[in-house]
Amino acid sequence: MSEQKLSFQAEVSRLLEIVANSLYANKEIFLRELISNASDACDRLRYAALTQPELTAADPDYKITLSSDAKARTLTVADNGIGMNRDEMIENLGTIARSGTANFVRELEEKPEGVNLIGQFGVGFYSAFMVADSVEVTSRRAGESQGWRWVSDGRGEFTVAETPEGDEDGDAPARGTRVVLKLKKGQEEFLDPLRLERIVRTYSDHIAIPVVLVKDAEDGGEQTLNAASALWTRPKSEISEDQYKEFYHHVAHAFDEPWLRLHFKAEGVIEYSGLLYLPSTKPFDLFQPERKHGVKLYVRRVFVTDDCEGLVPPYLRFLRGVIDSEDLPLNISRETLQTNPVLAKISKAVTKRVLNELKKKAEKKPEEYATFWDNFGPVLKEGLYEDEGRRETLIELARFASTRASGPDGDRDGGMVGLADYVARMVEGQDAIYYISGQDAEALRKSPQIEGFAAKGVEVLLMSDPVDEFWLPVVREYQGKAFKSVTRGGAELDKIADAAADSAKDGDAAEEDADAAGTDALIAFVKLALKDEVKDVRASERLTDSPVCLVADEGDMDMHLERLLKQHSQIDQASRRILEINPKHALIRRLAAELGTRGTAAPDAVDGEAPPLEEAARLLLDQARILEGEPLPDPSAFARRLSRLVARGFGPES
Ligand code: ADP
Ligand code: MG
Repeated sequence: MSEQKLSFQAEVSRLLEIVANSLYANKEIFLRELISNASDACDRLRYAALTQPELTAADPDYKITLSSDAKARTLTVADNGIGMNRDEMIENLGTIARSGTANFVRELEEKPEGVNLIGQFGVGFYSAFMVADSVEVTSRRAGESQGWRWVSDGRGEFTVAETPEGDEDGDAPARGTRVVLKLKKGQEEFLDPLRLERIVRTYSDHIAIPVVLVKDAEDGGEQTLNAASALWTRPKSEISEDQYKEFYHHVAHAFDEPWLRLHFKAEGVIEYSGLLYLPSTKPFDLFQPERKHGVKLYVRRVFVTDDCEGLVPPYLRFLRGVIDSEDLPLNISRETLQTNPVLAKISKAVTKRVLNELKKKAEKKPEEYATFWDNFGPVLKEGLYEDEGRRETLIELARFASTRASGPDGDRDGGMVGLADYVARMVEGQDAIYYISGQDAEALRKSPQIEGFAAKGVEVLLMSDPVDEFWLPVVREYQGKAFKSVTRGGAELDKIADAAADSAKDGDAAEEDADAAGTDALIAFVKLALKDEVKDVRASERLTDSPVCLVADEGDMDMHLERLLKQHSQIDQASRRILEINPKHALIRRLAAELGTRGTAAPDAVDGEAPPLEEAARLLLDQARILEGEPLPDPSAFARRLSRLVARGFGPES
C-alpha cells in the first residue's frame, strides 16, 4: 500500500485553529502532552504483556526518550510502548474520538469565552502544532511487523504510509512510537537540552517511566530527568503541590486546578492506595449517557484499565485519579473484574472516604463547598435514588437554592441551604419541607404558588435540576418531615401561624363573609365555564399577589415532572389541573361583584363571542398557564379575547 492522503475530521481542524490561537503563551505544554501520551502507551503495553509476555520479551524496560537535532531543527519524543497501526493512527490522530468532545469543540467556537475553556479541556497530541510546522509520527504496534508513518502540517490533511524496511533513518522503531517535530522558526528554544530538562521537571516529574534526554549525539550521554516512580507510592512529605497538580493534569486529561485531593493508603484485610482528585470545573462530558468516571485502576503499579465500571459509583463520576490494589490478580479480565468481591470492597471504602471528605468540606468550608455543589451537585444527587444504603449520608450533603432571604451570614454558603438548617428554621405549625420544582431557580422564585408561603415566612426550596424529580419520590422525607410540592395538593397554610411581621393587615370580618359568598358564586361559575379543561376550581390559600395559579391534585403527578416526561414523550396526556383563584385579588373581587350584579345571563354577548364573564374565565385559565410556563392550547383565541376585553375596558365609543 502506498501513501494515502486523508482529511482530518472537521472538528480536528477547528480544534487546531483554536489551539494555535489560544495557547501560544504557554507553548511548552506540548511536551507534557507528548510525554503523557508516551507514558499512557507504555502503561497499556505493560498490561497487554501480562497475558502476552512475548510482546515485551525483546525489550522489557520501558523508556521515553527525548532528543533534539539542531541542524535539522527537529525535536523527537520516542517511546517503546504499545504503538499504533495504520487504523489506530487514522482513528487517534485524525479524529476526536472521545465522546462529547466534538460537540464541545463546536461549542467552543460559538462562545467567545471558549478560548479560556480550552485550557481545562486538554488539547493533547494536537498541541504539537503550536511549535511545529510539521509532525511525523512513526510507529510499530507491539506484536505487529509492519510499521507506519503519519505526517501532517496540521492544515486539514495528513498522510499515512507503510514504512520501508531497512531505510536507515526512516525506519519505524522496533516497538512503539516516535514523534518528530520539525520546529517552526522562532521555536529553537525547544532544541536546548537545558530548556527541555526544565520543562520535564516542571510538568512530567510524576511520570512513572524514565524520561531520558539524549545529550549531544557526539558524547552520546543520556540523562534521566524524572524520579520515574509512581507518584501515589511516594510519601506525601516528598511530593510538592506542583507535582500533585501536574499528576492531576496527566491522569485527568484536564487542566484546571483540582478542587480537592485525597491521597491515601489502606492497610488491613484489603490493601490499596489511591490518589484521587475532584476538579474545580465541570468536565464537558459530565452528562454523557455512559456516565463514565475518570479513575484508573492499577494493580501493584501496573495499569489495568481506565474503564472499570464497579470501581466508583456513577454518581461520583467527577472523580479523577488512580486506585492501586495490592490484592487483585494482575491477569484479571475486565469482564470478571466487575464482579470481583475485592473490587466491590475497595469501591465501598473509597466511596465512604470521598463522601466523608465532602462532609468535612461542607461543614468547615461552606463557601468552597458551594463551588463543588454548583459543579457536581446534580450528579451527586443521582446517588439519592441509586444508592439506598448511602441515602442518609448523601441527603446531608445536598444543598438547595431557597426563598430564604440571605441573612447576615447569608452568602457564606453561596446562598445554598442544607436540609438540617431548613428543618431547624421551620416555622410554628409547619410539618413539611416545601419545595417547588421547575427549570430555572430564578423563575421559580417568582412563582405565584409560593406567595402565600413567603407571606407566612415559610421557606420554599427551589429545585431546578431534572434529577430532583427522580429522587424526591423515593426519598420522600427527611428527619420525619415529608417533602411537599407547593404546586400540588392543598397548601395547608392555615395550620401555620402567621409570621409575626406579616399579620398586620387583617380585614374586617363582616366584609370577608360577604366576599366569601361572592367568591363561591364566582368559583361555581368559572367551573361551569371551563368545564373539562380543569379538574377543579377553588379558592387559594397560597396566593397573595397573583390572581390565579395552577396546581396539581394531591394524587396526581407534580406539574413539572409531567412536563419533563411529556417533553421526552414518556407520556402523551397530561392530567387536568386545579385552577386556584385568589379571593383577595382586585381582579377576582371585581369579577365576583360583576357576577353578583349581572348574574350569569349575558345581555351584551355579540355574535361569535361568549358572554364577557365567560371570556374572563377563559382568560384566567390562560393567564395561569402562562405563569406556569405552559404553552397555550389556543394562543390566537387568547389574543382575541384579550383585545376585546381591553377595547371594552376603554368604554363604548359613543
Ligand atoms: P488523549 O491522550 O487525551 O487520549 P491525545 O490527543 O493526547 O488524547 O492522543 C490521542 C490518542 O492518540 C491517544 O488516546 C492514543 O490512542 C494515541 N496516541 C497518541 N500518542 C501515542 C503514543 N505515543 N503511542 C500510542 N498511542 C498514542
Ligand atoms: Mg494525551
